[in-house]
Amino acid sequence: MFDMLIDGGAAGGESRIPVISPVTEQVVAEVPDASAADVDRAVAAARRAWAGWRYSAYPQRRDVLVAMSRVVAENAAELAALLVMETGRPIAVAQFEVGLALQFLDYYAAQQIGPEVLIDDDARRVELRRLPLGVVAAIVPWNAPLYLAVNKIAPALMAGNTVVVKSAPSTPLTTARFGALVADLVPAGVLNILSGGNATGVHLVGHTDVAKIAFTGSSQTGRQIMAAAAPTLKRLTLELGGNDAAIVLPDADPAAIAPALFGFAFFNSGQVCAVIKRLYVHDSLYDAVCEAMAAIAGAVTLGDGGDPALQLGPVQNKAQFDKVQAFLADARVHGRIIAGGNVPDRPGYFIEPTIVRDITDGTMLVDEEPFGPVLPIIRYSDVDEVVARANRSPYGLGASVWSSDVEAATRVAGLIESGTVWVNQHCALDPAVPFPATKQSGIGAEGGREGLYAYTAVQTVNISKGQ
Ligand code: NAD
Repeated sequence: MFDMLIDGGAAGGESRIPVISPVTEQVVAEVPDASAADVDRAVAAARRAWAGWRYSAYPQRRDVLVAMSRVVAENAAELAALLVMETGRPIAVAQFEVGLALQFLDYYAAQQIGPEVLIDDDARRVELRRLPLGVVAAIVPWNAPLYLAVNKIAPALMAGNTVVVKSAPSTPLTTARFGALVADLVPAGVLNILSGGNATGVHLVGHTDVAKIAFTGSSQTGRQIMAAAAPTLKRLTLELGGNDAAIVLPDADPAAIAPALFGFAFFNSGQVCAVIKRLYVHDSLYDAVCEAMAAIAGAVTLGDGGDPALQLGPVQNKAQFDKVQAFLADARVHGRIIAGGNVPDRPGYFIEPTIVRDITDGTMLVDEEPFGPVLPIIRYSDVDEVVARANRSPYGLGASVWSSDVEAATRVAGLIESGTVWVNQHCALDPAVPFPATKQSGIGAEGGREGLYAYTAVQTVNISKGQ
């Protein structure tokens, strides 16, 4: 039984939505579809709870996060199994996500915000304080349901806010179970967890008592949420879509980097905002990299995530499955598929890991975000020109540069317009490191101290010493 968490108690809701396994296409569970009244109740509870929680001492907040971390660690196997059930992903990927959630809980449990003294002279003392905002609406997508909820909950609570989470309609199970596990560890109303469809999200982000929206999802929904925030000028953190370029410089070693390039493009079947989505390879290495990547892709096993030997699971839901197939159709027309390209004849939303070569900028697969297991490899001959091509995207989430010469790669990295640039790696996340979004990939950053400050309002207190 999967319930919601509202005002410290389990809530069943009036109607329920089915959760479909992407492996079997069968209904595996049902969850409440939060109504407008459920949203109102959760926001009201969060608002009431904020009256006390905003003044709670850091040790109390820390103890809550530490207790959450302990319970997640104790139940890691069950949470990972639920992630596998709702996403079909390999168990190792599910365990990685639970581990990442734990890292964020532990990192933020150790953070505090103290007043900063800006001026302290004979005439005055000026302090900068960072105060909590109030009720935070945390809206989560389906590709990393537990991690993307926890990386909002942990800093928001630590900064003294209360939270209403809404999980994605196709992946509500792990988040609901997390809510049940932590219900008794948090004062009633401080953390509320809702499940429901897009309409639940619409009502939540439009609620006048929500002070801040922390949203991860598509750029299209991000724009709608920004508009919904306007009437009451809600604070926003938006982590949206990406179309990360990886640039392989001429001195890289194709055989050495191909396994890492493949891993960082196809992790979670490509359903990660910041995996490699456009691979630019210098002319001199182009054939070697294409061949190495195709050989790896051809040897991958697809299947049900419960199998420990499994490398890739399915696409998470039917809508995304259909969308990725449109990218495959485009790739067939504008490029040459050298590995994969097929939908296996079996139930489930499976797509073979697909490598596409001889494709150029200006095509759907290169310019847009497939969010699935299809990677274009694009040829270039001049480094300045490829940097310009990488920067031409409306997105600016992540990017990477690959080279045997780390200094040269780091210089190129500095020219790229994205929130993160990795060198000889990609999508390396760490709770202490902000993950900023630029351009149409979003606004603000999650992670690190910036991710904590994002849940606060700056106040200056200016004290005259004249009296
Ligand atoms: P989505 O935007 O369709 O949905 C995300 C969430 O928003 C869901 O919970 C959904 O129910 C809710 N929602 C939908 N419409 C809403 C509205 N008008 N108001 C309020 N809530 C609404 O995204 P998705 O398809 O679930 O996720 C895939 C996208 O997420 C990809 O574009 C991916 O790049 C992006 N993403 C970004 C990051 C990042 O950190 N930048 C991380 C993961 C995924």
